[in-house]
Amino acid sequence: MFAEVIVDIAHSDVDKIFDYACGEEIVPGMRVTVPFGRSVVTGFVMRVKENTEVPPDKLREVLRTDEDFPALTAETLRLAETITARYRVPMALTLRLFLPAEMRTGKVAKRYRNICTLTKEPFTLAERAKAQHALVAYLKEVGEADSAHLRERFGAALKTLQEKGIILMQKRRVLRDPYRGEEGEKVERKLTPLQQSAFERIKTTEKTVSLLHGVTGSGKTEIYLSLIADTLKAGKTAIFLVPEISLTPQMLMQLRARFGSFAAILHSGLSAGERFDEWMRLREGSARIAIGARSAVFAPIENIGIIVIDEEHDGSYISENSPRYTTFDIALLRARHNGCKLVLGSATPSIETYRRATGGEFELIKLSERINARPMPEVRIVDMRREVRRGNVSAFSLTLREKLSECLEKGNQAILFLNRRGFSQMVICRDCGYTAKCENCDISLTYHSDEDCFKCHYCGARYRMPPACPACGGKHLGYMGTGTQRVVSDLKKLYPRARILRMDVDTTSGKEGHYRILKQFSSREADILVGTQMVAKGHDFPQVTLVGILDADMSLHFADYRSGERTFQLVTQVAGRSGRAQEPGEVVLQTYDPENYILRFAAHYDYEGFYAHEISMRAATMFPPFAKIIRVMVTGEDEKETLEALKAVYEKLQRVYAAHSEEFLFFNRMHSPIKRIQNKFRYQVLMRLTDGKVLKKIYDICAEEHHKNVLIYVEENPSNLS
Ligand code: ADP
Ligand code: ZN
Repeated sequence: MFAEVIVDIAHSDVDKIFDYACGEEIVPGMRVTVPFGRSVVTGFVMRVKENTEVPPDKLREVLRTDEDFPALTAETLRLAETITARYRVPMALTLRLFLPAEMRTGKVAKRYRNICTLTKEPFTLAERAKAQHALVAYLKEVGEADSAHLRERFGAALKTLQEKGIILMQKRRVLRDPYRGEEGEKVERKLTPLQQSAFERIKTTEKTVSLLHGVTGSGKTEIYLSLIADTLKAGKTAIFLVPEISLTPQMLMQLRARFGSFAAILHSGLSAGERFDEWMRLREGSARIAIGARSAVFAPIENIGIIVIDEEHDGSYISENSPRYTTFDIALLRARHNGCKLVLGSATPSIETYRRATGGEFELIKLSERINARPMPEVRIVDMRREVRRGNVSAFSLTLREKLSECLEKGNQAILFLNRRGFSQMVICRDCGYTAKCENCDISLTYHSDEDCFKCHYCGARYRMPPACPACGGKHLGYMGTGTQRVVSDLKKLYPRARILRMDVDTTSGKEGHYRILKQFSSREADILVGTQMVAKGHDFPQVTLVGILDADMSLHFADYRSGERTFQLVTQVAGRSGRAQEPGEVVLQTYDPENYILRFAAHYDYEGFYAHEISMRAATMFPPFAKIIRVMVTGEDEKETLEALKAVYEKLQRVYAAHSEEFLFFNRMHSPIKRIQNKFRYQVLMRLTDGKVLKKIYDICAEEHHKNVLIYVEENPSNLS
């Protein structure tokens, strides 16, 4: 027999099939150790065959299998080929996506323990052997126990009894359970008629993909859970994807309570051992629901009955490492392969998804009311320019202060949200709300202090800082934004008795960072939670009746064609944290641009209005989904080498451009807006395409270019162009 092997080295030079002689025990999907050149490496068996073209004197043998089972399933191997062809990356890189990292490093393995039990035979003990009597009595009571524990407690008696055959010691596999002792309350809710009909439609539609467009608090989660329960009943498995799992402990508890050990959780906050065991439970079939962030889409399960992508609009579903896949694409491939349904859920679907849904490609299901017809919180837009004119330059408007006092007096909780994504600087006129935009692209400019100028990230145009506001002539031009820390210290002065929690990247480091803060807040150990994007995610805090959005403008003027979409999503999501239980909620939205259509639509929960406006803008300016933005990044530590690589790629790309110029709306090479990150020079070729047809050519060109010490990769509609 011969095995076709891909070696686990992510380099294009060795990215091909190597044949090895092997025994009968080798099956496709196994990891094997093989001789390679002068070393020994791990490889993946892609196929097994009867014949080989490799001459006998050149042929080498598989040394051993790394595990006694195929780590990769048959579906996985097929999927990996599709992904590799699509993104033009070495096969080894794709295959790694399907394995827990700790399996590859070989540092983690199954854990075993020695379990002691009493043998059944009648036995007698010496009268004086007190410890032996105690040990037997103990085991009679507990049934079985760990040997280490017994040794500690009863000392040498254990060994003696074992030698006499009175105690039996057996090796048993133990699982590291990340959430032991954290069971939530088991609540089985009856679906409301609206939920029930959504459930039925998802099950019966002919379409593979359903979009569940439901306002915040409309009970989407309950529908997912019912679908998953239904799938389990049919003997199948499920994948449930959430944006960032450590942010949603409540959801986890709910799942654990409902599905117990059938649910396996894959996420980065787990220890290596825990992650490995959760993965193994799925691979072996003892767990049948894979829950996790985007990487859980690669869960090693077969016979999938449903895949759910919750908060489908979330940016975390796009991978930032090679291969730069989109979770939806992988999920769709798996859904097709398994003949199962794929459910997308969101209160604020991405423009792209909604377009496909209204175009008839996806089943579109709407839930436009909250559970029990609870009202949506009322959103008040506050004009911050007026506050400045009145002499209030603090981060809190008078309206917000009044509402906060009211909320605290009633003993309710409040969330204050600050928009902070990266630290890109924008300038705003505090008199009129003006922010600078690119004349060519209508995209907000970003200030770069190293060159003291403003740049457009989409065309590379540069602008000087104006001495006064070009719109109103005012002199109050300033940088936008206050930090969370500052907000907290100001709040403490205003409300000395309020208990305040802060949640941002600085306070949430460590495995349990988010979890701890969220738990404290939900158990009412604080009155106000101040935070960044993290507080916007799908939390369900029944006592929150006030949400303050301190600087809605920050994301509105983010240098991204999606800034409007992002703002609408953020405002809707943050507002959705308010008034989820009996008491109605309120939202105070502070802005320098109160007439802005995005904020207006968001304040009225008018997704359709927002979508209609946004899609016509995108069509007019030719941005996605009407065009594709492609960036080819060329980065390396040596500037000369990097530039040479850039030149080589650029020349080839230019030929494609010349031959298909009708498909290009924009084509240029330039420095990246941030010229160097972590000692690496960054150059790019930026393109805007009307059609996807030349995209494959671009991938091919980049895959063929090999330059030592220089990395070249393709990004599609990148979420960050800095
Ligand atoms: P969404 O995911 O759409 O934001 P959730 O699933 O979090 O909404 O549901 C909002 C609230 O309604 C939660 O507190 C949830 O427990 C409750 N809920 C959901 N479905 C039902 C139901 N069928 N009966 C009673 N309460 C429900
Ligand atoms: Zn521009």
